[in-house]
Amino acid sequence: MSTPDARPLVLRGGTVLTMDDAHTVLPRGDVLVVDGKIAAVGERLDVPEGTQEVDATGGVVMPGMVDTHRHMWQTAMRGYGADWTLTQYFVWYYLEHGKTFRPEDVHAGNLLSAWEGLEAGVTTTVDWSHGLQSVDHAEAAADALLAVPGRFVLAYGNIQAGPWEWTADPAVQAFLKRRADEGKLGLQLAFDVTGDPAFPEKAAFEVARELGLPVTTHAGVWGATSDASIQLMHDAGFMTPETVYVHAASLSTDSYHRIAASGGSVSVSTESEQSAGQGYPPTWQVRKHGIPVSLSMDTSVWWSADLFSAMRTTLGADRSREHLEAHVEGNTVTQVHLRAEQVVEWATRGGARALGRDDLGSLEPGKTADVVLIKNDASPVSFPLLNPYGHVAFQAQRGDVHTVLVGGRVVKSDGRLVGYDGAAVRSAVESTVEHLRGAMGEETWQAGMNPAMPEDGDDVLDNPYTYTDYKSEDTHGARGSLFGD
Ligand SMILES: [Zn+2]
Repeated sequence: MSTPDARPLVLRGGTVLTMDDAHTVLPRGDVLVVDGKIAAVGERLDVPEGTQEVDATGGVVMPGMVDTHRHMWQTAMRGYGADWTLTQYFVWYYLEHGKTFRPEDVHAGNLLSAWEGLEAGVTTTVDWSHGLQSVDHAEAAADALLAVPGRFVLAYGNIQAGPWEWTADPAVQAFLKRRADEGKLGLQLAFDVTGDPAFPEKAAFEVARELGLPVTTHAGVWGATSDASIQLMHDAGFMTPETVYVHAASLSTDSYHRIAASGGSVSVSTESEQSAGQGYPPTWQVRKHGIPVSLSMDTSVWWSADLFSAMRTTLGADRSREHLEAHVEGNTVTQVHLRAEQVVEWATRGGARALGRDDLGSLEPGKTADVVLIKNDASPVSFPLLNPYGHVAFQAQRGDVHTVLVGGRVVKSDGRLVGYDGAAVRSAVESTVEHLRGAMGEETWQAGMNPAMPEDGDDVLDNPYTYTDYKSEDTHGARGSLFGD
């Protein structure tokens, strides 16, 4: 991963959001970093001789953000699916063109995505890598992540084969063991549970258990996974505290109780749920059950790797739901439940907790120095800085990210990425676009980007998983009411 810069570094005089247990805020604080760790947080700190100083006055110093679910391989198609629904996404990647990706295409997407996250102050990203059709693809994915000085978790997946098939492959297991021994990347297994009562995914959970890897799974996704999936995992004892339930949107209260009781966490991709249709962004539900939350951006085929956007849209979706429900009853909301402080916690510490990384997510002595400075003196949006959580959630944006440290190493400085060879990344991504476009033909390529307007009688996809014939209406039953369970 990243080697810390040899010199100690201090960020001086910023508004420091420590995100410690008490959520201590220092209005004019310093953060001292030595040997890749936070050495001290306080006011007017004494620092070792030769310490590099970064002027943080007028800015916000906070922990690096954590994205717990992003399909980084798809970043080479940035923005292509802006007008897609989940069905169109499934058809494009799962049924038709996902197979077109070569190892170098996965590499190109991951490289671009990895730099993009760092640029936005996201220091840790889970690469929900479900395009790994072969171990060569997996090597390419891992190599790209290791070429960028961020912190990454490779969540190994393959939408082209059943989880019980690819997890049984000795070459896949050997890859996972070797990469685990190297210790440079975090690792998870990434697969979905269709709800088939035969529960073929059981074998994949067993491999995860044998290898000691957490499982991340798309749960509560309209038309794909449902309460039946949670029930199967529950009955077989696979709901563990390190399990991450992505979206968890179209679920019943029983499923939320099970997630809460097992100590698992939910990765909310609000922008995705709003546009694609997995279900209503679930924070309004999961917060009632006390389920830990982290935030994620899902895929740059629609959205960018920008957790400012995730925080903002999560506040909006939760509050919008609350207002609408009150209005239906003839009431009004006088105090909103979800606060800016909470989404900043989810974007930082929530992600660290979901990944079992107690050393990340807060600025406290002894913790790993993943640090972000938001400061843009040239911007009229940078002042007055009255409510720092509100400022981060609603006012700041990726262009305001001034400095980023990963394990004490400076990876963005004065608004510019350090060591980023933009020409090389661009050239790799352009080759991938050229390959995909050529393989599909121009007409198919254009049609994919510009989906037809809806017509009566359009088919509902029963199940996007090509590796199984299992289908169930359970994944797309009528909800009965907008506002009920
Ligand atoms: Zn996803």
